[in-house]
Amino acid sequence: MTDRAYRQDPSVQILDALTRAKSLVCVGHVSPDADCLGAALGLARAWSLHQNRDASVWVSEKSIPARLRFMFEIANVRNANEYDLESADRIAVVDTSQPSRIDLPKNATSSIDGNPRILNIDHHFTNTCFGDLHWIVEDASSTCELIYEVLRGLSYRIDPATAALLYSGIYTDTGGFSLPNTTANALHIAADLTQLGVSPSDVAERVDRSVGVPQFELMKCIYQNTRTQENGSIAYSTISYDDLVRSGCSPSDIDDQVNVPRSMAGVTIAALFTEVEPGQIRINLRGESNTEVSGLAQQFGGGGHRQAAGVIMSGTLQCAVERIVNAAVNMLHQKSNQTNAQKQTCESSGH
Ligand code: 5GP
Ligand code: MN
Repeated sequence: MTDRAYRQDPSVQILDALTRAKSLVCVGHVSPDADCLGAALGLARAWSLHQNRDASVWVSEKSIPARLRFMFEIANVRNANEYDLESADRIAVVDTSQPSRIDLPKNATSSIDGNPRILNIDHHFTNTCFGDLHWIVEDASSTCELIYEVLRGLSYRIDPATAALLYSGIYTDTGGFSLPNTTANALHIAADLTQLGVSPSDVAERVDRSVGVPQFELMKCIYQNTRTQENGSIAYSTISYDDLVRSGCSPSDIDDQVNVPRSMAGVTIAALFTEVEPGQIRINLRGESNTEVSGLAQQFGGGGHRQAAGVIMSGTLQCAVERIVNAAVNMLHQKSNQTNAQKQTCESSGH
């Protein structure tokens, strides 16, 4: 496909580095999502098929959500071991904004900054540009969109399995082509990947319509525990460690369930608080109607995208809820005060 409305080009250095590498290990972020897995697995698969050399992925097995395990089956890429990590010519870090978020053993993440073997491809605006080479495109829908461009730039053939991996990342990071990052470019690429052999209904069935009983039980609990505040503009739910264990889920199954409180009309900030282990709370934050939540996450040491961010906090579930919800309320008050002040300025100046 050549006739697209707009195109992002990866740098020649990135393409060159991938062409010259003799071995490649792809890694993503902790608590991997479909974009991170699709980008790492898709790049590793296409690279090894084309270069006819060894590529592997480093992903902590127990951190993979059950609904995304199919991605490993279709990728057919082997898991890296410690030796692969130490000896790889290049380590491609995808969909990850900063070294501390990389899903690698702690001793390996300390030497990431300025590491000449690291190649960093990502779409987080908070990316700290670590490593040797980086290609960061803030307005890309997903990292899978960028991997597609890399594969195109390298003139690799994209086989149906690679296409399905990349499509899965674009599909999920755009919320099933429903979020503000659903650009014409993302849709063009999805269409091209479909022509290359992806079945959109198969992907949607795998990621949206294959919920197991434990995950379904957890959803019931999330609906049950959903609360609203500020006339419904803030909606959040909680999962205690007991709830998690009772449902039969593991912490890795927390993925996109924040969509439950987010789905209510009028919500501008949605949050899901999960006690992933006693005293350890993971918070998923989402902003609707142009409301940014990255600042909210950063206040508590987290980060992410403008409208999809996260935090990890120590303490009780109740304490985490109080801290985050109070900060969210303050943020909305400040926003509404600013809007009122702007209106008054316009009215008094006669506009
Ligand atoms: P999720 O809520 O799906 O876990 O994460 C939403 C976005 O925020 C993703 O891009 C994810 O990588 C990022 N994110 C989640 N938790 C953290 C965190 O603790 N720190 C940073 N820097 N980013 C996070
Ligand atoms: Mn992503």
